[in-house]
Amino acid sequence: MTVDKGRFAPSPSGRMHLGNVMCALLAWLSVKSKGGTLVLRIEDLDTARCKKEYARQLMDDLRWLGLTWEEGPGKNEPDAPYFQSERTEIYENTLDRLREKAMIYPCFCSRADLHAANAPHLSDGTVLYQNTCRGLTASEQAEKNKKRPGALRIAVPDEDICFTDGHLGAVCQNLKRECGDFILRRSDGVFAYQMAVVADDACMGITEVVRGQDLLSSTPRQIYLQRLLGVKTPSYYHIPLLVNEQGVRLSKREKSLDMQELRKRYAPSELLGELAALCGLQQKPYAKTPQELAAVFDWGKIVREPIVVPKRIQNE
Ligand code: GLU
Repeated sequence: MTVDKGRFAPSPSGRMHLGNVMCALLAWLSVKSKGGTLVLRIEDLDTARCKKEYARQLMDDLRWLGLTWEEGPGKNEPDAPYFQSERTEIYENTLDRLREKAMIYPCFCSRADLHAANAPHLSDGTVLYQNTCRGLTASEQAEKNKKRPGALRIAVPDEDICFTDGHLGAVCQNLKRECGDFILRRSDGVFAYQMAVVADDACMGITEVVRGQDLLSSTPRQIYLQRLLGVKTPSYYHIPLLVNEQGVRLSKREKSLDMQELRKRYAPSELLGELAALCGLQQKPYAKTPQELAAVFDWGKIVREPIVVPKRIQNE
């Protein structure tokens, strides 16, 4: 029997905020309620935005909350390193394996080029890539490469990728029309999130992924890569985003909801109790430990619509 293995994979680009804590809590509860284990992976590929100090702080915040991990920095490290910035060799190997299965080609389009193409916009606000560089000859590629290095894109087929989200039900996306050829490595050499996350989830034996609904549209791309690589697709659970009373998504800019402020106003069990009430796990914000919440956890209780965070919690 395989052991359930979940993961929490934050990007250390600032102090954790309420939305990150909700995600960490539900990832923890989902796998712990099944008797499984949790991996902590630090997704710090974007070295311009991520800092070691933020990573240190988020681990401190998770410990303060009691949301412990069995594998990851400072714990058992069977699949070390757990910082994506140190896993480049693994991504290089994954890229080589993908090259054998699909067409991967350099793309020299600038941001301005992509927008100038007057292409349809996708659900996440990005532009549908028009395959501008797909047909370049080797000599054209070499010529363009002299001016600026290319990003690497993978060609996608005209195919619907469907999966059953454990929380939302059936989800389908046509890769050609709703996604387009996507980037595996940026022009500055940094591996893209879609590539790294697939390599890491497979390498670390992750069986379930709990994350925000903002990443729902990424999942078909990740499943496409998993199929090419011949690795298992984990179960996915996409959780609702947190919004203010006007329905606007709460962001890291909301300082009153970052852990520095929250830790001043709440004890760990009080904060977890608030989150448990917000997501539908309990009627009222009774203070609870993670273990107490795991005992009553059930995906059927968790809401599917955006979660409105009352002003009381925002301390306004
Ligand atoms: N690192 C991503 C984030 O912090 C999460 C990626 C994932 O869970 O797949 O938004």
